[in-house]
Amino acid sequence: SERALGQHLGISRTTVVTAYQELEAQGLVRRQVGRGTIVCAVAKDPHASFAWQGKVARGALRASDPTLRLLGEISVDPTIISFAAGIAALDLFPSQLFQEITARIWREQAQRVVELGPTDGLLEFRQAVATMMGVRPSQILALSGSQQGIDLIARCLLDPGDSVLLDAPGYLGAIQIFQAAGAHLIGWDSIHADLNELEDLIVRYRPKLLYTTPTFQNPTGHTLSRQTRLRLLELAARYHLPIIEDDPYRDLAFNFKPPPTLLSLDTQHLVIYLGTFSKTLASGLRLGWLAAPESIVNHLALLKGRSDLFTTSLQQLVVTELLRSGIYTQHIKNMQRAYAQRQAAMLGELRRSSPPDLISSFAVQGGLYLWCQLGYGIDARLALQKALQAGVAFLPGEVFYPDGRGQDELRLCFSAIPPSKIVEGVRRLTQALNELRSA
Ligand code: PMP
Repeated sequence: SERALGQHLGISRTTVVTAYQELEAQGLVRRQVGRGTIVCAVAKDPHASFAWQGKVARGALRASDPTLRLLGEISVDPTIISFAAGIAALDLFPSQLFQEITARIWREQAQRVVELGPTDGLLEFRQAVATMMGVRPSQILALSGSQQGIDLIARCLLDPGDSVLLDAPGYLGAIQIFQAAGAHLIGWDSIHADLNELEDLIVRYRPKLLYTTPTFQNPTGHTLSRQTRLRLLELAARYHLPIIEDDPYRDLAFNFKPPPTLLSLDTQHLVIYLGTFSKTLASGLRLGWLAAPESIVNHLALLKGRSDLFTTSLQQLVVTELLRSGIYTQHIKNMQRAYAQRQAAMLGELRRSSPPDLISSFAVQGGLYLWCQLGYGIDARLALQKALQAGVAFLPGEVFYPDGRGQDELRLCFSAIPPSKIVEGVRRLTQALNELRSA
């Protein structure tokens, strides 16, 4: 144990824990609940690592799972078919139109592109998004991606030691931010959506906020019903609990009309809504927004100003034009159709090439992901190693829980790749799983 190691070396347990956290942050070791610490890489440049030893702040070490960074590396490896990162169908990005609009903006509004922009966002962007959301422009804050919104909210509302209620499984990027803020994370199973259990958790832990992705959730694809939304809002009102509604997937519905947003149903001004163009257009644009009561938007805008001053004006101008011209609405229809086909290809091949007791999943009504259950006691992290050797990647379930659950679960993203490649990737995956089962 860390304590025993500390005693053996004559140093405190805290020093040992911090040292492990630093190694983990550098991707050199990985901690697994119930299995201790595993060495997983050799430092590329040990001298450089040594120079920075002890320099990294405690908050930065608290959430050191290197999975998000690994995702970036995998997604540029051409030999790997990646179902890992949640990426939009970039092959369908309207690049011709985007280039034309960008060129026109440079011709007509070059000064606005290069000058300092307002922290809250350009007025026309806020107006266009406000119209889409049915709120006032002053309730909108432009963001450099909705990830920035989660970070700003954590910095604005949380002190170390505060409790946060969140979907479990839930979005990895949010888990990391809340952990880094020093919060105590309490998972709520939003698939079964037991509101009595939620109320018990609220009473017991008195959380500072509830974070949820209620529509086509990441990672499960699940959507909270209208009834559950209303009851959730009742609880929020009774216990005066702010709700963060993270909603990147709402527009990506397959022949299904999702229930209204929590924001639109809220009468108590307790909801902060996060939206993004990452899953409908492209994450590379780094453009999202937040919609909330003005009083909290103002606090968040101050923090945003301190972090990145303002979000790139060019992207706001181009996307405003896409929204106003109706191109965006048309594009979303294409994406919905394509994502539905991609899900069908993935689910069909999973069912064709493996028995359901090896890997099982269920169809979703929108979004980007299939959430899968592994059989035969197969561990998803082990399966990932095997799958990478076979040339396919996914995300192990464990990273979506704040407490190490999900070892026999995994997430597959079906949106990013055309159907023929999806079929090939699923074959590689099921073959790797079959080999693990017979090993
Ligand atoms: N929230 C959720 C639930 C997500 O799945 C993602 C992206 N995977 C984000 C936020 C971050 O999106 P953005 O690219 O807008 O920062």
